[in-house]
Amino acid sequence: MFDWLIIGGGIQGCTAAVYLLKQNKVSIENLAIIDPNEQPLSMWRHCTSIIEMPYLRSPSIHHLAPAHFDLEKFAKSSKGRPYASFYKPYDRPGLQLFNTHCEHLFEETRLNKSWLQGRVVQLKKDKTSWKVILKDGQELESKNVILAIGLSEHPFWPEWAVTAKENEASISHIFDRTQQVTETAKSIAIIGGGISAAHAAIKWSQHLPGNTVQISRHSLRVHQFDSDPGWLGPKLMRNFQTVSSYDKRREMIRKARHRGSMPLDIKAKIGKQIKSGALSFLQDEVMEVQANSSLNKITLQSGQQIKADHILLATGFHQSPPGIEWLNSTIQDRKLQCAACGYPILSTSLQWDEGLYAIGALSELEIGPVARNISGARRGIEKILESI
Ligand SMILES: Cc1cc2nc3c(=O)[nH]c(=O)nc-3n(C[C@H](O)[C@H](O)[C@H](O)COP(=O)(O)OP(=O)(O)OC[C@H]3O[C@@H](n4cnc5c(N)ncnc54)[C@H](O)[C@@H]3O)c2cc1C
Repeated sequence: MFDWLIIGGGIQGCTAAVYLLKQNKVSIENLAIIDPNEQPLSMWRHCTSIIEMPYLRSPSIHHLAPAHFDLEKFAKSSKGRPYASFYKPYDRPGLQLFNTHCEHLFEETRLNKSWLQGRVVQLKKDKTSWKVILKDGQELESKNVILAIGLSEHPFWPEWAVTAKENEASISHIFDRTQQVTETAKSIAIIGGGISAAHAAIKWSQHLPGNTVQISRHSLRVHQFDSDPGWLGPKLMRNFQTVSSYDKRREMIRKARHRGSMPLDIKAKIGKQIKSGALSFLQDEVMEVQANSSLNKITLQSGQQIKADHILLATGFHQSPPGIEWLNSTIQDRKLQCAACGYPILSTSLQWDEGLYAIGALSELEIGPVARNISGARRGIEKILESI
């Protein structure tokens, strides 16, 4: 029997684990982190490395450790100094520095000792504990469970793209781990107008200069962060928490998110690639793709036609609650509350049921627009810890 079991070992689950261990709320022997990947942060590493993201979008105080300046302190240590790199303003850490800091925290807390590779398929309440059933049939028991399953396993495919794939077009989603851009591709069309599409457009226009096109429904939007920093504290959260309608909270979250935006420096890099002729940018929408074995013919809403060897979707993730398929039986057995959007209705300490908590995407109706981010992970586990 474990004291704490975390389902999902991404940014959210690992932040929770580091806090629990560093604040002596659990010993390593009494903690389990269940994740289908071999190593912590696998999805994070995949999504950020595939687009060659050099710096995080968030500032240096957003990391996995409880102490605010842990990352900055690490950057000055002998272990961190070789990777020390920040981008002004807001001291956004370099990805390598951020990842090395994570590894340092995992070593410090011996987090790997609680790592259990597996996929949870069912969760059942016993009298005083939770039974966690894995795909391979293993059963584990824990007094407390934290759901920390993110969205990165669910890339979003627009309908036209599903049809194109069925018709054997050369097409993939940027965050798909099974299929990537074919090595023989000499031209590429990137679909999307957000920060991931922008990073991908910079990367591919360097690899295939003059043969990379980015197609976005909107012009490039500039926002330093993906939501107003006021959402990080009481300035905007106080009002959010007084709203009792979860439909209204969902609408507030939708309006607060600067979807499809990027910081100014990324827009400037895109501008440079366009100016040099390495990248073309089209504000338009894909209507249809006609494919043969070697070329995709993309018809846009404007009537223009584009040819590309490969289509790369940078269209984000599904918006439905992650894990909901296997959580459904728990929701029904335990009569757990969900809002009309399908997301959990949690207590202010993120409790969904006795000893069952959710952080990250599943906590956004309580944590607000930053729930999915690193700052949301910190706030989420802090709320849980305050209540125990
Ligand atoms: C390219 C990119 C850049 C980003 N940059 C920033 C940034 O600079 N700053 C910031 O604050 N945020 C950033 N974000 C947003 C956010 O912080 C990340 O998406 C973060 O990785 C989300 O973490 P997570 O733990 O919720 O999800 P995930 O990374 O999806 O991790 C969840 C884990 O749960 C596992 N899992 C799923 N189902 C099960 C199951 N049934 N049983 C066991 N395990 C399961 C998954 O395999 C996965 O390993 C970025 C996101 C992306 C995509």
